[in-house]
Amino acid sequence: MCRMKASLFHEHGGPDVLEYTDFPTPSPEPDQVLVEIKAVALNHLDLFVRGGIPGMTVEMPHILGSDISGVVKEIGSSVEADYEVGQKVVIDPGLSCGTCEFCRIGETSLCSTYRIIGEHVRGGYAEYIVVNSENVISVPKECALDYAEAAATPLTFMTAWRLLMTKGQIRAGDDVLVIGIGGGVALAALQIAKVAGARVFVTSSSDTKLEKARLLGADVLINHNTTPDYHKEIWKVTNRRGVDVVLDSVGQATWERSLKSLRKGGKLVTPGATSGPMAMTNVNLVFWKQLEILGSTMSSRGELHEVLKLVWTNRVRPVIDRIFPLSEAGDAHIFLEEGKQFGKIVLRP
Ligand SMILES: [Zn+2]
Repeated sequence: MCRMKASLFHEHGGPDVLEYTDFPTPSPEPDQVLVEIKAVALNHLDLFVRGGIPGMTVEMPHILGSDISGVVKEIGSSVEADYEVGQKVVIDPGLSCGTCEFCRIGETSLCSTYRIIGEHVRGGYAEYIVVNSENVISVPKECALDYAEAAATPLTFMTAWRLLMTKGQIRAGDDVLVIGIGGGVALAALQIAKVAGARVFVTSSSDTKLEKARLLGADVLINHNTTPDYHKEIWKVTNRRGVDVVLDSVGQATWERSLKSLRKGGKLVTPGATSGPMAMTNVNLVFWKQLEILGSTMSSRGELHEVLKLVWTNRVRPVIDRIFPLSEAGDAHIFLEEGKQFGKIVLRP
């Protein structure tokens, strides 16, 4: 076991830079664990890292993949684990120092040297990965998720949980608007908001996606192709009040309408901007309506464990659109870029 298959790249670029090839199998340090990867889920992050993020350098060749499920293959000699070889696990993709001012209060995603597996260090587009023991999370035996669903869980659910519960502070009865239903974070947010007792509004350009969202509990469906001024529709449905919280991960293309959809004192929470980051903000709207714009990325380890309680007990469940073999990672990237998916895209080594 000294070589493994991996999908890696030697230079940034389009989907064709991904190369399915042999790579040395990593071996664990005393405080690390070797995990045999069964599935790895794609995120938009993968596309950004493959293309190259300005100001960020990665060690080449780089291996993408932040959302990993698998089984424990080897446990380092100094690891005190509550699991054994063969345990089904997922991996917390967040790497934090444990000693900075933010880590000391448990805010690990604010760590001054916060890094993400698959972005800053080699990730899961491979047959094996070595991770620190603290990043290994056992999947309970009673949990019904398969490996693809388990892989599709950590990044999207931790991100959605922090956005809605910690930043948005949603509660039962709130109106929550999720822009662009179909992506992993949006689908996780829809389900979390329903568990929290909110009424959930969703937008999409696809009636098919809206119908699927309805089956997951979405209350108000808005097609933003046929209703481009969707904030006016929201104004009508909420009796000229607006929604309590908007989750906007689209950015530039939807930002102004998202702000206009908020009630007085409402909150816009954002984990990113898939359509571009340079959005226009009408400051008059922000101060007069006393709006809050809250950024968030990933979550603390504590928040991840909170949302996993809902996942393990089947109260929320990751949605899978399609599974590709790891050797076809480039095709999977093209499919993600097209944006037609409803749910996660997963690679299987
Ligand atoms: Zn830290």
